[in-house]
Amino acid sequence: MPIYEFMCHNCERRSSFLVRNLSAPFAPECSLCGSDNLSRVISSFAYHKSLQTVWEESGEPVGRVGENYYRDPRNIGRWTEKRFRDMGQEMPSRIQDQIQAAREVTLPEPLKDMESVSPSAAYD
Ligand SMILES: [Zn+2]
Repeated sequence: MPIYEFMCHNCERRSSFLVRNLSAPFAPECSLCGSDNLSRVISSFAYHKSLQTVWEESGEPVGRVGENYYRDPRNIGRWTEKRFRDMGQEMPSRIQDQIQAAREVTLPEPLKDMESVSPSAAYD
């Protein structure tokens, strides 16, 4: 089950929520002050993962790129990662975030609305 981390705008405390039912409406409340004025934050570990780590965790791309390839959300972003690795560059964290978000295809709608980075921002 995915864990989502949120920051409270009222008291600036971070709270983590285990999302048990992804299809149900999800309205997190701050565990300290009870405010529902929360924004999702991408877990900090994602920012500090090296590309090599990401690559090792998600594995080498499997199968051939074809009609069904991108139906597997795990394959989203693989080739972007490969391109950066081939160039010997660390992938910018915001692109990692985009890929991570794209792989979390079961995001409930309210969370999608909280995404602050637009997909096009990754490429400017
Ligand atoms: Zn709070």
